[in-house]
Amino acid sequence: MKNLIVANWKMNPNSQKEAKDIFDAIREGARGLDAEVVVCPPAVYLYASGFGQGIISMGAQNVHFEDKGAFTGEISALMIKDLEAEYVIIGHSERRKYFGETDESVNKKIKKALEAGLKIIFCIGETAEERDAGKKNEVLERQVKIGLFGIDNLENINIAYEPVWAIGTGNNCSVEETKESVNFIRKFVKPKTRILYGGSVKSENSGGYIKDAGANGLLVGGASLSAEEFVKIIKSAE
Ligand code: PEP
Repeated sequence: MKNLIVANWKMNPNSQKEAKDIFDAIREGARGLDAEVVVCPPAVYLYASGFGQGIISMGAQNVHFEDKGAFTGEISALMIKDLEAEYVIIGHSERRKYFGETDESVNKKIKKALEAGLKIIFCIGETAEERDAGKKNEVLERQVKIGLFGIDNLENINIAYEPVWAIGTGNNCSVEETKESVNFIRKFVKPKTRILYGGSVKSENSGGYIKDAGANGLLVGGASLSAEEFVKIIKSAE
């Protein structure tokens, strides 16, 4: 099982040209490296799937839980699949915080995306308040159990453990604490399910999550917009 290194570009960059430049540089840098690499750009850039040339896979950052219909602004799993993207991020904390996603809607999205043949990067993680209140494990267990409710085949599920307080803050979770959480999450999934770490990953801290915390990959936000930095992160996971 290869480590899975995922770039989440969020709502960046602002032009097709910049997107293509970053994408091309990542593809060149990732050539020959022994990791599975996925780039999740804004959906409008997903047409670029073909640029991966088998070295990089594409993923969407969100999906709706219905096949089609009157859902202005949304995209369906079938549309993502039709663009030959392979992955979709579901349940990112920014979607939960700003767009009202719940464990229940996340569960519906995961089911719909699996039905369409997509692979899932399912995000979970506690907030600073939940951590301070000693509720971290309770939150992680609830998110995993409801998010995966009714799903028996976990073959296409990858879990990204992203402490909310570590995302975009520069305050990455320690290797020791990540290891505890990865071990805790592992109780609820299959031995082969990949568990990724995400939250202020940079090339200087990335290797430890794979080598010492037992993570099977990384979900990288800000640092994935620099091809040079992202390629260093991929190398650290080899
Ligand atoms: C993310 O967006 O999932 C993320 C982990 O962001 P960052 O790496 O910028 O903290």
